[in-house]
Amino acid sequence: CGIVGYIGKQDTTKILLDGLKELEYRGYDSAGIALLQNDNIDVFKAVGKLVNLEEKVNSVPKQDYYLGIGHTRWATHGKPTELNAHPHLGEYSYVVHNGIIENYKELKDELIQKGHHFVSQTDTEVIVHLFESFYNQLNDATKAFQNTIERLEGAYAILLITKVEPEKVFFYKLGSPMIVARGNEKDEILFASSDSALIGLAKDVVYLEDRMGGVATASNIEFFNKNVLWSKLPTSKQFAQK
Ligand code: GLU
Repeated sequence: CGIVGYIGKQDTTKILLDGLKELEYRGYDSAGIALLQNDNIDVFKAVGKLVNLEEKVNSVPKQDYYLGIGHTRWATHGKPTELNAHPHLGEYSYVVHNGIIENYKELKDELIQKGHHFVSQTDTEVIVHLFESFYNQLNDATKAFQNTIERLEGAYAILLITKVEPEKVFFYKLGSPMIVARGNEKDEILFASSDSALIGLAKDVVYLEDRMGGVATASNIEFFNKNVLWSKLPTSKQFAQK
């Protein structure tokens, strides 16, 4: 239902939680965040209001995370439980997703055959397993992400992070909104499903078109457009287009 993401030097946890609060008006049944520091990813999830998530986050010592993704869920597949809350984990990657993966059953069966182990009832969980299945073959996270997108049917906005390329956030949008922005500070990138989460934080903003995605680090964003064979789009032009 709601997505936020951040790469940068400010308080990542606070930016994500504040962003999710700005998206609360859309409604949700559970929420979660995944935070990255070196190659360690910490995850917090809670059913119900964001205060429940905040309590969990505040119950452990504060860490200096430089990258993170967050989600408020409005369940479409699977009950509103903590296990079904996003972000969803594979072996070494996490994903948050808005929308529906229509062909998730077929993909799930295929991945289970390959030895992937599923823990949730969501459609979303196939995304992260599909990504890792491709990464295990290709050893290239960008290619693995693009191959994943090729297989997904439905409507979706996605952020994915992975320990194997821990400085990056992979993103894509088809049918659900996604915004990518440069932050006010140097080397800072923000993501959100609605611009209300970016007010006061973002400088250059791109409202992604359908079938557009890419990969971002703190200092650089590469955009891809699936319709033109994953050709790279010039970043500055994208930012100028707003
Ligand atoms: N279909 C996903 C789920 O049920 C995402 C729902 C949403 O957009 O929040 O977890």
